[in-house]
Amino acid sequence: MANSFDLSYQNQHIESKITVALERISEAFRVLLWQQAQELKLSPIQIQILIFCCFHSSEKCKVGYLAQEFNLDKSTISDSVKVLEQKKLIEKFTTPEDGRSYIIGLTDAGLQIAQQTASFALPLEKPIQELSDTQKEVLLFSLLELIHKLQRVGIISLQRMCFSCQYFQKTNRGYYCKFLNIDLSPHDLRVDCPEHELSNLG
Ligand code: SF4
Repeated sequence: MANSFDLSYQNQHIESKITVALERISEAFRVLLWQQAQELKLSPIQIQILIFCCFHSSEKCKVGYLAQEFNLDKSTISDSVKVLEQKKLIEKFTTPEDGRSYIIGLTDAGLQIAQQTASFALPLEKPIQELSDTQKEVLLFSLLELIHKLQRVGIISLQRMCFSCQYFQKTNRGYYCKFLNIDLSPHDLRVDCPEHELSNLG
């Protein structure tokens, strides 16, 4: 059966070439993350948990949310959290509103590692900086559309981007955010927005 990795098929179909190009980029991402993980003697998911909890609000720093975020089961996240706690990089907190689950907070040492490792993706960002503004906007818009479609068919879960937000509105001028009360140019569209609220339409 024809597929994107069959070169005779791939070279006749632009969709296949894009699919394989995305796979190459995700491989580069994985390699860069592994390099950081090896240097710090942590696993890639442990580093991702530290970085996520460093830059997101505390109600998102819970095992269930992280499991959805990284498409892993809760026990895998719990095991990683346990190791991070043993290494004194995180602490667990409960709140009076929800005594059943705990919030993951970074210690000073965890914060330092998260801030240091968060730059692991910079080598990917540098070549993007060299694109023109129009190329960047087209690329961002296309990737957001792709992620949104993958979310709608259940391949990617839990996105906090404009296209899946209840505050996002199409207007005859372009796009509008009803939360921030601003027009959104292609440059302003967000991939990970702290104010995102999931739309009923997904
Ligand atoms: S709240 Fe954030 S995600 Fe939602 S439309 Fe506004 S900018 Fe986009």
